[in-house]
Amino acid sequence: MKITVLGCNGLYPSKQFNTSGYLLSVEKVNIVLDMGSGVFSTLKELVKPEKVNAIFISHLHFDHISDLGVYNYYLESKAKKGEFAGKIKLLVKNDESAVYRAIAGLNYFEIVEYSDKLTLFDLEFSFYKMKHPALSHAVTVEFKGKKFGYLSDGNVSENLEGVIKECDLTVAHAPFTKAQSGKEKPHSSAYDIALLAKKYKKQTLISHFAPDSDKKELEKEISFAREFCKLVTQGESYLV
Ligand SMILES: [Zn+2]
Ligand SMILES: [Zn+2]
Repeated sequence: MKITVLGCNGLYPSKQFNTSGYLLSVEKVNIVLDMGSGVFSTLKELVKPEKVNAIFISHLHFDHISDLGVYNYYLESKAKKGEFAGKIKLLVKNDESAVYRAIAGLNYFEIVEYSDKLTLFDLEFSFYKMKHPALSHAVTVEFKGKKFGYLSDGNVSENLEGVIKECDLTVAHAPFTKAQSGKEKPHSSAYDIALLAKKYKKQTLISHFAPDSDKKELEKEISFAREFCKLVTQGESYLV
């Protein structure tokens, strides 16, 4: 399995960095994890968007979904030219919001409501609720004995720790320094993730930085777990 960072900002994009998005490639299968602002055009440089097999949406905050609408326009334009038929599977939870209803109305996606587990394209997906102000889920993907985890947004919880423990490589959205962190915050600190990475001796990647975040300070705070934990940047790929 290969994971490529399509966007590593939280909140809003910068000139350089999109908000949340990752491409998980497993042999000929391409799964996109979240579809934040700017992610569509970055994805399009790597694969034909109409060939993507499925899109997983962790939750309905705009920095994770804002390019779904333009993705649908692209598919519509391809369909009109006879270059795309059918729908792309969209794994998303119904949180009963107006945003969900807008997404469910996009013609070229087929909604797949996930619960605990799902098998798609020979990949085993498992879903875990995260501690976040919105209804938010982590996903793990297993293939040939290797496991990848995408925690997306959420503070430290039993589920967050469980995903790091069981996966060979996990992407965590942990943009806070120790000084910014707290039990009621929407995200964990990078330091919290580094502690878990070291505890379980598992590879963990930190992402979802605020556009004005102090990456040097984050680097310093996770340096004790350098062997297991690092900050990512857009465009990088990792093998699982
Ligand atoms: Zn977010
Ligand atoms: Zn969020």
